[in-house]
Amino acid sequence: MENCDVVVLGAGPYGLAAATHLKNVKGLEVRIFGEPMSFWERNMPVGMFLRSNWTATQIADPHLALTLEEYGSESGSNVSQPVPLDRFVQYGHWYQQKGVPDLDQRRVSRVERGPDGFRITLSDGEVLGSRRVVVAAGIGPFAWRPQEFDGLPVELASHTSEHRDLGKFTGKKVLVVGGGQSALESAALLREGGAQAEVIARTHKIHWLQGSLSRTLHHGLGKYVRSILYAPTDVGPAGISRLMARPDLLRRLPRSVQDKLRKRAVRPAGARWLVDRLKSVPVRLGCSVVDVATAGPRARVRLSDGSERTVDHVLLGTGYRVNVAKYDFFPPELVQSVRRSNGYPCLEPGLETSVPGLHILGAPAAWSFGPLMQFVSGAHYAAQALTRHVIANK
Ligand SMILES: Cc1cc2nc3c(=O)[nH]c(=O)nc-3n(C[C@H](O)[C@H](O)[C@H](O)COP(=O)(O)OP(=O)(O)OC[C@H]3O[C@@H](n4cnc5c(N)ncnc54)[C@H](O)[C@@H]3O)c2cc1C
Repeated sequence: MENCDVVVLGAGPYGLAAATHLKNVKGLEVRIFGEPMSFWERNMPVGMFLRSNWTATQIADPHLALTLEEYGSESGSNVSQPVPLDRFVQYGHWYQQKGVPDLDQRRVSRVERGPDGFRITLSDGEVLGSRRVVVAAGIGPFAWRPQEFDGLPVELASHTSEHRDLGKFTGKKVLVVGGGQSALESAALLREGGAQAEVIARTHKIHWLQGSLSRTLHHGLGKYVRSILYAPTDVGPAGISRLMARPDLLRRLPRSVQDKLRKRAVRPAGARWLVDRLKSVPVRLGCSVVDVATAGPRARVRLSDGSERTVDHVLLGTGYRVNVAKYDFFPPELVQSVRRSNGYPCLEPGLETSVPGLHILGAPAAWSFGPLMQFVSGAHYAAQALTRHVIANK
């Protein structure tokens, strides 16, 4: 059995960032597995734009060299803002080829405790040993399908993450459920692709990012004031943004304060550039689904306001709920040894779980290190904190 010091599982922004940082440590044997940018390539809709701003869309690397600017200049065409999904995916591939050329694209099928750390089984049956494992496997398995929709087959009700091409709904009537970016942007894309879309959301008000107050704070009061109020990581409103950018400080606050701040920082909201694109899409707020049934090849949906819709499809923009037990490469005995709160692992410095040597990065780290971990910009902190910890415990 081949052995190494660290296995990184996942090749999205977090796995790639972790790998470039760890590979920079002299004498450390690092292996990285996963398909580069696969979630962005397969589980987000064609035509999407990134909601995060320019600085928050850079994938972290230890030399700050693998930037969007550098990618744009090498590829011969500048990247526009907001950053289009396809350009971000290309940037991720470019980053991988430059920073992690030895990426192994095989899947990891099992991670279990081994004689000297962990035993990792790959999809083709090969087994290797590693002293540490860094899981950066993303949110794919956590897509949330509310129970109300159990009565509909997947052909009639599906999660937004199940679609790459919303063009398949051209000419169809689609009810989009949710009031956040994913639901709203899907509705805009459906409409632009020739579908008849309607949005329903429980919220009484859609929160649009960059409202007039936020625009004044961002642009009207000058660069200096902006930099005091907003961190480059771009998570959270004025002031809170600065705190979110400092996970080590945030985690020292009482739990109840952390939870409140987290809710405020990442409440469901839509990017302002969606407002015009949704002008001709009906949006029904303060409304939830109370009953669903099939009606021949269609779905019949009864809403809390007493009205009914018969549609070709229900698209669930209902977000994600972290539960690390859903990572299929974790055997139940390993998950049980990981101290958890509500599905999230409770992490220690270096994003280490209660199982020594097992680290979890990305959205599952949000309970311990705050909502920054749900975004690309959080990979700077995560990769650096992880690397410091690995060096200190080499
Ligand atoms: C619709 C949508 C829009 C978003 N827009 C933004 C945005 O604008 N800005 C932003 O910052 N964030 C955005 N996010 C959040 C975004 O998903 C995360 O910021 C980012 O993907 C986190 O990166 P990650 O590396 O943790 O996970 P991912 O990018 O999901 O990468 C997971 C990696 O793990 C690999 N993997 C999984 N299982 C295995 C296995 N068993 N073996 C080997 N490899 C495995 C996958 O192949 C992949 O390479 C958005 C999310 C959604 C759903």
